[in-house]
Amino acid sequence: MKIEAKYDLIIAGGGLSGLSLAWYLARGGYQGEVLVVDSTFAPHNDKTWCFWTNREPPFKEIIYKRWKKTWVSVLDYSTFRYLNEYTYHCIRSGDFREYVLRELKKHSNFDLLEENILDFSANKNKAVLLTKNGDTYLANYIFQSVLKPKNLDRSQIKYQLIQHFLGWEVHTHESMFDPETFTIMDFDNEFSPGVGFMYVLPYADNKALLEFTVFSKEPLDKKRYKQKIRHYLYHNYGLDKEHYEIGRKEYGEIPMEDRPHVPFYENNIINLGAVGGQTKPSTGYTFTRIQDYTQKLAQNIIQGKDPIPPQPSKFKYRYYDLLLLHILANSTEESLRVFRSLYKKNSLDELFRFLGEDSSFIQDLKIMSSVPYTPFFKAIGNNLRLR
Ligand SMILES: Cc1cc2nc3c(=O)[nH]c(=O)nc-3n(C[C@H](O)[C@H](O)[C@H](O)COP(=O)(O)OP(=O)(O)OC[C@H]3O[C@@H](n4cnc5c(N)ncnc54)[C@H](O)[C@@H]3O)c2cc1C
Repeated sequence: MKIEAKYDLIIAGGGLSGLSLAWYLARGGYQGEVLVVDSTFAPHNDKTWCFWTNREPPFKEIIYKRWKKTWVSVLDYSTFRYLNEYTYHCIRSGDFREYVLRELKKHSNFDLLEENILDFSANKNKAVLLTKNGDTYLANYIFQSVLKPKNLDRSQIKYQLIQHFLGWEVHTHESMFDPETFTIMDFDNEFSPGVGFMYVLPYADNKALLEFTVFSKEPLDKKRYKQKIRHYLYHNYGLDKEHYEIGRKEYGEIPMEDRPHVPFYENNIINLGAVGGQTKPSTGYTFTRIQDYTQKLAQNIIQGKDPIPPQPSKFKYRYYDLLLLHILANSTEESLRVFRSLYKKNSLDELFRFLGEDSSFIQDLKIMSSVPYTPFFKAIGNNLRLR
């Protein structure tokens, strides 16, 4: 086996998790030799990452837009809600990549390599990255966000939902949107199978990203998302095809599943990001969890300690997620009733705190007592044990 080069660390995958780790290492003054590998480093705004925080946001220089007010509509309940403690932010993936790469280029101990990764392997103390060209790179540790973990036993996953969506960035000829108010969930109460809703991020009064989003087992035919967006633009804003141009499109499938925690790909190879299971199962949000983990991981490495693997969520949150997944997977009608109660009886700050896994037990009780009991009792009956 011919080794091309040896590094202290290899970061395999230069997307959100890989470049976040590289960023925190570089900014934290890490002196070891690091190789970052991706099939391409060209910046593309193909993902819009939104997140909420009650602190200073990470990457605040490249926040594209932030909101303190939202619109929600489910069944007979429609209202504006205000955020006091939290702010909802969005960052575009292309801006993020450009920003982090500019920083990495200032650090001579970071190398970038554009190659397709085939696999990884590990022996006692070293980890090996193998490219599709047959080249191999050696390191003490590899952090990978590219390949699904080999040891993930999918037969253990009880609820295998996906959050799938198609978004259009729409430019209107006239002023149409309120740029201060994003739409977190405008449910399509008649939609089936699964739970469908529109998510709208208005960037300006004539520019917004509209995503038709579904929680269900299978993605839709692309035509169906398009029809839903066109229909929404017509019914909510009176816009016909000739009143707007479609700019960028964004398609995504995010796993929403109770997958087992698999922190290692192999010895010395740690799974990061979405393939590493860092997505919150009941919401699909991943951005903040990636930030929290990669920041801690980088600090650990800089202090010369062994890298800490990602930790699973606390038991109580994994259990709440399981109950919500059960309801989402089994009944659209009950899911809508649960969403209505959650939004009606809790402030958005309270919901964000709970979904961000930052709530106290008393706060959890308030949220859990705000939802209809029957679907939850059924969900508990079906999930008496957490695997
Ligand atoms: C369209 C979309 C929108 C999303 N929006 C949000 C959001 O608003 N909020 C939120 O919290 N989460 C969101 N998510 C979920 C999650 O935050 C993102 O998927 C995020 O990009 C995950 O980061 P990652 O590092 O795991 O994967 P990625 O960012 O996808 O990075 C993986 C990298 O690996 C590279 N790669 C893959 N295969 C190979 C290979 N064989 N060889 C070399 N390189 C390879 C890819 O080029 C990519 O750069 C979204 C997901 C999608 C798909």
